[in-house]
Amino acid sequence: MEKFDIIIRSSESEGAKQIPYFYVPCMIKAEPEIDIHEMFNVPKDIGKRSTWMCFRFIFLPPHLYNHLIASLSRKYNIAERVVTGQKERQIALFKSTAVFELQDETTKLRKLLVMTCPNVIQIQVWEFGEDIKSGLYKYIADFVTEELNTIMHTRFKMSNVKFEKKWECGLTEPKCVTGSNIFMEEPTYQCDTCQIKHMFIDEWSDQQNKAPWVRVHVKAGKRDHSNVSEDQSSERSLREFTAEQINFTKMGIIVLNILADASYDLLKQDIPNLRPRSDCDITYLYNEHRRLNKHIPTNGWGVIRQVDQVTDIAVGDDIERIRLTRNELQHSRAAELGDTRFNELCNILTDLLQRFDQLNKPTRLYTDHLHEILAKTISAEDVQSIENEILGMDITVEIVNPVKVQP
Ligand SMILES: [Zn+2]
Repeated sequence: MEKFDIIIRSSESEGAKQIPYFYVPCMIKAEPEIDIHEMFNVPKDIGKRSTWMCFRFIFLPPHLYNHLIASLSRKYNIAERVVTGQKERQIALFKSTAVFELQDETTKLRKLLVMTCPNVIQIQVWEFGEDIKSGLYKYIADFVTEELNTIMHTRFKMSNVKFEKKWECGLTEPKCVTGSNIFMEEPTYQCDTCQIKHMFIDEWSDQQNKAPWVRVHVKAGKRDHSNVSEDQSSERSLREFTAEQINFTKMGIIVLNILADASYDLLKQDIPNLRPRSDCDITYLYNEHRRLNKHIPTNGWGVIRQVDQVTDIAVGDDIERIRLTRNELQHSRAAELGDTRFNELCNILTDLLQRFDQLNKPTRLYTDHLHEILAKTISAEDVQSIENEILGMDITVEIVNPVKVQP
């Protein structure tokens, strides 16, 4: 029965001492009792949930999905979770939903979700560590494609069965995924689900070398990028950068230096033994504020998704604004910021930093630092150094990740 994928030997039962036990995929009738993303606490963030890769069939043979699950479980372990109050670990194998560990031996920071609905087998990778990059999951897409082809054509000779590969925003609810988009080379798209413009990351294929845009990202923490200069020697190479890229770089400097400083200085008042500023990025600071739960946002922690939607000016609201501004930059994978949006953010942040000046009374006013960055010219070296530093980059940390907060 193992040979025909009717049963799957549990990888944990391979040791000689243990009694082997088996899964029987076609017998599993249970649906997950809660949303599968919620079950594994997957951040609602396109840097952490890959796009859905959809294998769309005209006719999907009923057991093809189970065969695929069997193939995957020969290569990867099925994910498990510990549920409070239950004696046994819960295995993430449900009717039409399964989760695999892609890094089971080590970090468990990467998991694969496989689901099926009437005509589609859809997969998504969850990344709990680094951010999703172009080409990162090509190996998984290739493996699943090959396995499907092998099952269909070699093993079962289902010669009439064909699929096409489509994709959809990773934030689309599993049930709403239809695989509406074809793979493309354009760097951005307007998302049907989020109704905003996203970068097309293209994590499922290896076309990153074709990307025509310059990647400039900004790293928080260790290095201060706010040393703006007007070095004339940089004028020539500066022409290679667009106004949008310069805006993005400036905003990155503001967010990762001034906003992080403001957040740090506030936290330091309540946590005197706080680790040094150079070891704190915005994610860490946000999570510490949230844990401390002293300055609570008007609408609660992590509720609002866009910086413009924060309308109140409690201290907690400003802590949310910092998070959301940084998220917005992080999601701008083209590393560009148009003039209109740049000016909107500058207005929002000027008001915010005035409030932090009042609150923290820093020796050097945050608003002065802000004006300095806005007024001066960013050198090409600034842009370049940020780009270089970011290629080994750390802007990957997730801010929305819920932290248990005392009621
Ligand atoms: Zn979207």
